[in-house]
Amino acid sequence: MNIIDLHCDTVLFCYKNRKTLRTYEGHINLEKLQKGGCLAQCFALFIPTHDAAVEYLGGEPDPWSLYQALLSCYRELLADSADVLRPALSAAQILENSRSGFLSSILTVEDGVELDEKLERLDTVYADGVRMMALTWNYENCIGYPNSPDPFEHTRRGLKPFGFEALEKMNELGIIIDVSHLSEAGFFDVASHSKKPFIASHSCCRALKDHSRNLTDTQLRTLADAGGVVGVNFYDVFLGDRGGMTAVEDIVRHLLYLRDRAGIESLAFGSDFDGIESALEFRDYSGFPQILRALEAHFTDDEIDRICHGNFLRVFTAQE
Ligand SMILES: [Zn+2]
Repeated sequence: MNIIDLHCDTVLFCYKNRKTLRTYEGHINLEKLQKGGCLAQCFALFIPTHDAAVEYLGGEPDPWSLYQALLSCYRELLADSADVLRPALSAAQILENSRSGFLSSILTVEDGVELDEKLERLDTVYADGVRMMALTWNYENCIGYPNSPDPFEHTRRGLKPFGFEALEKMNELGIIIDVSHLSEAGFFDVASHSKKPFIASHSCCRALKDHSRNLTDTQLRTLADAGGVVGVNFYDVFLGDRGGMTAVEDIVRHLLYLRDRAGIESLAFGSDFDGIESALEFRDYSGFPQILRALEAHFTDDEIDRICHGNFLRVFTAQE
């Protein structure tokens, strides 16, 4: 048991289809986590808005109500999985759970839209157990602006005044700031204001695939200098051009590039399982060992341990 994967959308689909982590047949379920070698899984409460809300939920619910509904679903999923999976609120708890024979679940949120300029909601989400939050998804929200193929939108529109307040509060509470999906200007606002290491939970390298969801070399180095990590995303659209197929080789290529540009301390996995549509060469979470075997040709055992969990544990510990 040694993989900590920084992002998946499994909760939304269990919520939508009324499935448990035993009955869900997507990329992640309890059996697949066990087979694949999970130490901890970050489960995001993804808050779809606008078109995405209509697509996934058939309407546009109020983001705060949806957050509550997804949180209830998450708690039910955990209660039903209690013989295998336990929540972890700190790095130490992940190791404790592991020593007792349990996998860990880390609660995260994708999109700060539900804060609705109410800073005190961060106290609530922290008390609910949230330990990482993506500031935006693909739409503008009260915190800032998303990534965009339009260079002006992407590089000039940074955090909003409330975004800076939220950032400070997240630092204070110990909620990891996740910059995946954020605009480039927002990224640099985080880099210059965050007092703690931050994460891009599910992004790849822009030099290898020119997509605004991916990070430029300067962003990779900036994030590494701040002590953060990048969880390499398994979506073929961010990895390369294989027409809907995700190959292990492409994941390795991004990890190697990241190591060369930003150092081994910045590498992690951010699969985006259940949020990506490409056909996976390794099928689903249970295929993780295939990825690890491919890494052995390029990385030492110690480096593979860092990628799998060591780097993230360092960032998580630094939030305290
Ligand atoms: Zn995402």
